[in-house]
This record gives sequence, structure tokens and C-alpha cells, in this order.
Amino acid sequence: MALEDTQLVRGGSFMFHSAGSLPQATPEESSEEALAIAEAARDFVTGEILPRDEEIDHLDLELTRNLLAKAGDLGILGMEIPEAYGGLDLDKKTALLVLEEMAKQASFSTSYTAHTSIGTMPIVYFGNAEQKAKYLPKLATGEWCAAYALTEAGSGSDALGAKATAVLVDGHWVLNGTKAWITNAGFADVFVIFAKINGSHLSAFIVEKTDPGISTGAEEKKMGIKGSSTRTVILENCRIPEDRLLGGKGKGARIALGILNVGRFKLGASSVGGGKRVLDYTLKYTAERTQFGKPLNAFGLIQQKLANMAVRIFVGESMSFRTIGYLDEALALTSWESETGGADKMKAIDEYAMEASMSKVWGSEALFATADDAVQSFGGAGFSAEYPPEKIYRDCRINRIFEGTNEINRLLIAQTFLKRCGGVDGLPLAAGAAAPLDLPQDDLLRTVALSKARALKVIAKAQAEHGPKILDNQEAAARIANLLLEIYAMESAVVRAGKMAQAGHRWAPLAADLAAVYAQEAWNRIQGEARMLAAELASGPALDTLVAELLAMQAPAPMALSSLRQRIAAALVDQGRYPISAV
Ligand SMILES: Cc1cc2nc3c(=O)[nH]c(=O)nc-3n(C[C@H](O)[C@H](O)[C@H](O)COP(=O)(O)OP(=O)(O)OC[C@H]3O[C@@H](n4cnc5c(N)ncnc54)[C@H](O)[C@@H]3O)c2cc1C
Repeated sequence: MALEDTQLVRGGSFMFHSAGSLPQATPEESSEEALAIAEAARDFVTGEILPRDEEIDHLDLELTRNLLAKAGDLGILGMEIPEAYGGLDLDKKTALLVLEEMAKQASFSTSYTAHTSIGTMPIVYFGNAEQKAKYLPKLATGEWCAAYALTEAGSGSDALGAKATAVLVDGHWVLNGTKAWITNAGFADVFVIFAKINGSHLSAFIVEKTDPGISTGAEEKKMGIKGSSTRTVILENCRIPEDRLLGGKGKGARIALGILNVGRFKLGASSVGGGKRVLDYTLKYTAERTQFGKPLNAFGLIQQKLANMAVRIFVGESMSFRTIGYLDEALALTSWESETGGADKMKAIDEYAMEASMSKVWGSEALFATADDAVQSFGGAGFSAEYPPEKIYRDCRINRIFEGTNEINRLLIAQTFLKRCGGVDGLPLAAGAAAPLDLPQDDLLRTVALSKARALKVIAKAQAEHGPKILDNQEAAARIANLLLEIYAMESAVVRAGKMAQAGHRWAPLAADLAAVYAQEAWNRIQGEARMLAAELASGPALDTLVAELLAMQAPAPMALSSLRQRIAAALVDQGRYPISAV
């Protein structure tokens, strides 16, 4: 069934629906089964991973491998693998809850996601029956570990510009080239490697570590995630059987880019888990350390940081769940039983490529800001390797670089949105920008509605004046992306807080404060981005007119955020941890 023929929420369409009107998944509505698995993951992380934090970060790869096998015993390596191949075939929301837990140790989490996501998913979605039968059961148990090798020294962001080659000789592929920065390379048994057949058709191949001609370089000396293995993978006349071609000749770009979308969804979620851990450390430290005769958490500017950390966790989690909820709905209409099952599932994932990029960019930047707030709240101790924030700060920096840098993802967000607004059945950009304001009663939803109206007006102007050429101005494209992701984040948080209030959730008042702080801060940024984008489109009197039009639109009343943040900080300090948890 074509996605267009269903009632599913279309990717990018959130900008055109009335504020808060779209269905949205939230962690609070998680199934019993999902919670049970997430709880098992939490116990595993608390009992087995966190106590071995130091050993893992000293690059004890045997330990990491053993821990992955233990995760396999718990079933959490095979959550997204079809049951027929030894997996649990659970929905992505469950995978998200588990990932949040895993993310509490960044190095292990990197190994885990490289294995379960970019390493295993190419075989899940693109493997033929024989390939799936051979590899997936072992990848599900952790008997074998996987890696994904796309990047080369000369092709990182330009990922499809690989130079590695594959030539068919006497029923065997012969691969040559060097892949760079490959996670899990130090212990992987199975590599999904991208190379160009006869130098032109980018294709994916399954290479086993025992195949002749494959070797790995030394471990990279990294700024962070030091416990994850990162090496070059060297192919010197590496000979593999002909049937190891994955997905067909020339399907490499489809596989490489499709799989990166899966990774991006997940990176958003793992940023939330990392944020929870760093906030908990910061709450403990700021309660224990005193200055001027008071604990640090009694000071307004420390409370501001604690509150902002919680705001980012709440918003990021709302956004990740919303996105993954759309994806689960789309995936539920597909079946592994169908011959085109894998392709149908990949198509569903593509539909939300823009939302995946927004979650990745937003989540990775939010976690970095949170780690920075932690360093600052610890003062000099934050700069010392004796305390957790220093490591967390270094560990999370990579999130803005891999799975497509945030620059590339911002360009993708703007490009995908404008592309979707083109064509006969495209999203109605011009009409949306001209539509009369539909203002809800609720203050926060009204802020969402006003933000959408502002952004649509200026983006439509950009499209009308420049068409797709606006993307040639990368700063303008990034501003379009920023508008979209701020609005997506804001709406996700406001809707989730509203649902919690309706359900009488214990933490609904806290959620309302968290959403309110974000809505106000995001509104200010949206105003700024809209004005600066306008300045890229016009100058002189035309700019004055456009800015005047933007300013003439209603604006939400400013709120005093200090009292909201003090209330948030008080709840956090009282609980000693970030308290809104489904698990
Ligand atoms: C720890 C680690 C683990 C990794 N794991 C894997 C893995 O398992 N498998 C794998 O295949 N790869 C992996 N990578 C590679 C990673 O995906 C790349 O590093 C990343 O895509 C960026 O590529 P690059 O390093 O070549 O940077 P470059 O592409 O050289 O980018 C440098 C800078 O230029 C910017 N830039 C580049 N092109 C543009 C453009 N068109 N417009 C605007 N700005 C641009 C980038 O955003 C960045 O800021 C890993 C990298 C690291 C560091």
C-alpha cells in the first residue's frame, strides 16, 4: 500500500496542521511489554555497564564484546530483527526506551547502536532470505558483532563519493580500498562495506572478518567515547563469494542513506538518555557543595541551568517519541511476510527522514548544551577528569558529527521540506502562508500556531523569490531548518504536556512548566531566525515591508521565566533526579 493512500501523518506536514491537532505518541503511553523490556535494559545498564565504566573506557574490547553478548541474552540486540531470524520484531518505541537506558554509558552505547542499528539493519532491510538466515540469528544473540563501513578518508559528508572498488572475478567479488572511522572495527565479525562495482555503481557487500584480504588499522585516539573501537578497515584484494552482494548492484546509495535515517532517529533518543544521567549527577553535586553558606542549588543561576537541563530532556524525549510514533504507525502497515517487506519498511522510514534529521540535530545540540551546563555548575570540578561532566562533555561532542554532521542534516531538513512543498500533491506552502490565523485558546498552543504562521510566511517568501536556489545560500537554508526544528520541538513538548494534564499524570504540572519555558525561549529564537531569513531575501524598503508584515502578526505575551524555572528546579532538587520517567 502506498503511504500516500493511508491516513498516516506525512513527513513534514506538521507545519500545516493546526497547532496540537496531530496524533502524537508519548512515553507515558508505553505498553506494558515495552516498559518491561526497558526496565530489563535499565537493570542491565545499572548492574553490568555503569559499574564497569572505567574498564569500558580503557578500551577493553573483550569486555564490550561480552557485554554485547549479555545484551543479546536479554533480547535487546534483536529487538528490531524479524522473529523468523531470531529477533523479537518489536516496535521502534520499545527500541527507543531501551536506547535511552543504554545511552547512560556513551562508549558502550556507541558500540551497541553501531551493532544493532547501522551494522545489522542493512541486512534486515536489504538482505535476501539466505543472507538473513546466515547472519541475523547470530547478530541477534551477539555471537557475532557488526559494523558499517561507508566513510573513507576522502569521502565523509560526501558519503557517496567512495573510492573503494569491487570487481567480479571468477564468481568472487574482489574489494580494494580503505574505510575510515569504522565503529566496532576492532571486534566486528561482519562488516557491511560500501564499494563501487567497476568504479561506478556504489554497492553494499557483507564481508566477514575471516575473509582473505580484510584487516583493520590501529585504534583512533579520540576526544571522547574512548571505550568504543574506531579503526580503518583495509581491503587488499579482499575476496568474498558473489552472493555477499547486499540489495543488488548499484543499491549502495539507497542502503547507505536509508540506514543513516534509522541511525538519526536513534541518536535523538540516546541524547535524551545521556541528558538524564548528566542532570542526575549535577543535582547531586549542586545539593552537596556549598558556597556563601548555601548549597549551589539555592542560587538562581544554578537553578536556571538545572531547569534548562530538564527542559531539554523533556522536549527531546517528546520529539523522539513523536517521530518514532509516526514511524511505528507506518511500519505497522508493512509486513515481513510480503516479498517487498524490507523495501516497504525502508520507504516508511524515508517518509520521516526530515523528522529523523530534526531529532538528531536537536538532540545532539541539546545534550551538548546540557553537558556544558553540567561543567559550569560543577565549577572547577567540572573541568577536572575526577568528576563525571568532563567525560560526558567530551563523549557527547561526537553526536554533532556522526550520522551526518549537523550542517549536512540542517541542509537535508531544508531541502526535504522545500522538495515536499513542490509538485502537484506537495505540501501547501503558499496556501499555508496565506491561510488566516487559527488561534487556539491554550496559551502554549497559541505560541505554536503563531510560530508556524511566522515561519511559513518567511519560508514561502524564500521559495517564491528564489525557488530551490535558496538552498545555495547555506546560511538561509540553515535558518529554514532552525525554524522547522524549533517548531517541531515546541509543538511536541506542548502536546505531550497537554496529554499528561488530561491524563492527570503526577508530573503534569512540572511538564507544563517545562513546555512553557521551552515555548517562550523557542519563540524568541524563531522570531530572530524569521527576521534574519527575511534579511537574506530582501533589502531596503522590501525588507522593511517584509519585517513589518512579520512584526504585524500577533505575538504571545512574554512570560517571566525565572519563576517557572525556580519551580522546575525545586521539583528536581526535591526528587534528586529527573523525575518524569515511564520506566
Ligand atoms: C568516532 C567516530 C565514529 C564513526 N563511525 C563511523 C562508522 O561506524 N561508519 C562510517 O561509515 N563512518 C563513521 N564515522 C564517520 C563519520 O560519519 C564522518 O566523520 C562524518 O560523516 C563527517 O565526515 P568527515 O569526518 O569526512 O568530515 P567532512 O565531510 O570533511 O566535514 C568537515 C566539516 O565540513 C562540513 N561540510 C562538509 N561538507 C559540507 C557541505 N556540503 N556543506 C556544508 N558543510 C559541509 C561538515 O559539516 C564538517 O563541519 C565515524 C566518525 C567518528 C569520528
